[in-house]
Amino acid sequence: MKADRHLPSKELINLNHLNLDFVSEIEKTSGVNINKCYHCKSCAGGCHFYQTTDYPPNSVIRLVQLGLRNEALECSTIWLCVGCHTCSIQCPMGIDMAGFMDGLRQIAIREEVVIAEPDILNFHRDVLHTIKRHGRTHKLEVMLRYKARKWDWFSDLAVGLKMFSKGKLHLMPSKIKAIGEIRKIFTPRPDGVIYE
Ligand code: SF4
Ligand code: SF4
Repeated sequence: MKADRHLPSKELINLNHLNLDFVSEIEKTSGVNINKCYHCKSCAGGCHFYQTTDYPPNSVIRLVQLGLRNEALECSTIWLCVGCHTCSIQCPMGIDMAGFMDGLRQIAIREEVVIAEPDILNFHRDVLHTIKRHGRTHKLEVMLRYKARKWDWFSDLAVGLKMFSKGKLHLMPSKIKAIGEIRKIFTPRPDGVIYE
């Protein structure tokens, strides 16, 4: 379990440095209105990854509401969230937590802040790279790219061999016919964000 960072105490929040437009910026990016959250913490109770993150999901909402921009964009929670929607199902206000976290990830990448979990971002990029090339994921290529980046060839060897023996890893990728349509997804957006 990571060290609990907790929200800064009242004495440490400098009211002159708060970005109170952050809530509307997140809503514009993700379409999620976090002002409906009344901090019942049901989302934190239901999140399988809560123990590994630095802030529970409702606290990330609080960071944004307080305008603590860097704390929100640089926390590990936004990268460790797998978008499983367990919390959203339990949320009495129906807040799309996965969409909210995705909005924060987009802004974190766009603003080139310190990424709390760079391995996770790199893994996302490796997955997207194979989708751009083949139209669908190629697990072996994803693993090799990730391993080469980390220069870590043997830590998961047993798992890799087991997957291979069960036919879960294919040497050659299978390509879809409409690859051109898939590649359009990777066209840079007007704001400069490229999803790869
Ligand atoms: S469950 Fe919904 S309302 Fe409750 S703290 Fe989480 S996001 Fe907010
Ligand atoms: S969507 Fe994210 S925050 Fe919500 S339960 Fe799943 S991992 Fe946790």
